[in-house]
Amino acid sequence: AKLDGRNTFKFFTPEMQAQSVRALQLENALRRALERNQFHLHYQPQMSLTNGSVRSVEALLRWQHPQLGAVSPAEFIPIAEDSGQILQIGEWVLRTALSQLKTWRTNGFPHLTMAVNLSAIQFRQPQLPELVSRMLAEFGLPPDSLELELTEGVAVDDPHAAVATMDQLHARGVRMSMDDFGTGYSSLSQLKRFQIFKLKIDQSFVRDLGDDGNDRAIVSAIIRMAQALGMRTTAEGVETEGQLAYLREQGCDEAQGYHFSMPLSAPELEAFMRRQLH
Ligand code: C2E
Ligand code: CA
Ligand code: CA
Ligand code: CA
Repeated sequence: AKLDGRNTFKFFTPEMQAQSVRALQLENALRRALERNQFHLHYQPQMSLTNGSVRSVEALLRWQHPQLGAVSPAEFIPIAEDSGQILQIGEWVLRTALSQLKTWRTNGFPHLTMAVNLSAIQFRQPQLPELVSRMLAEFGLPPDSLELELTEGVAVDDPHAAVATMDQLHARGVRMSMDDFGTGYSSLSQLKRFQIFKLKIDQSFVRDLGDDGNDRAIVSAIIRMAQALGMRTTAEGVETEGQLAYLREQGCDEAQGYHFSMPLSAPELEAFMRRQLH
């Protein structure tokens, strides 16, 4: 039993204990993951619904540990955030994704853009806009070739600071996407003040588009609102022809999901893009 601040006893169940042991194990293993080259990126295409081309690719972090195996980012990112390691890891992701983008842009895909997920912790670093600009310059990439994917969580603690950072990134020409849109707490009045290029409609609304009238209404409302605010829309988690047909009919700009492609290694994604060209 453990005594907490209010003099009450908290008991750990065996299950809770196993969870915290695992979290500690992962935190320790994460400390060595970068230097041991255990991270790599997969890339998932975001398809234009107007001309069927790959408009953008999203970089998704993968961690392969010799004993623990493949650990999901949904499990290790929160641990890296709590321990502060997300800053170094996030910088590695940004550099690796931009380096890959440079290679693709100079080898047949000159208009491709790269989407990179940012943790709220990275977003709150005052040096972030400077870091991003410096890295783009390092690779000779134009700022609008990068899309930073943020979640509504970035604005929870300090909406004013979030607006200021977005303004700075926007002034530098970098695009921002609101990830998992519709699942967080941001208000519409806040959204209006954000310099957001694109709303990514969360996969939880896309999943049941076939048979849930409410989800159809929500998705259609998000698309119309984005259009009114001058933002693009990308639907996430598109798995079926039926979902795609509805999204197209409603004027969604882009779609991403297993229907088109799973996240792929760089050579696999390049082969996918070459097939699209023919
Ligand atoms: P996310 O940014 O919302 O990424 C979308 C997730 O949905 C990815 O899971 C992707 O593999 C999965 N997905 C794509 N298409 C489909 C589909 O058609 N159906 C279904 N069911 N799922 C699909 P993944 O790669 O496991 O990543 C999970 C989350 O981890 C991401 O969610 C993101 O929040 C976080 N993440 C991944 N890479 C990074 C990173 O480099 N930095 C940060 N901060 N977070 C990352
Ligand atoms: Ca994302
Ligand atoms: Ca998402
Ligand atoms: Ca998500």
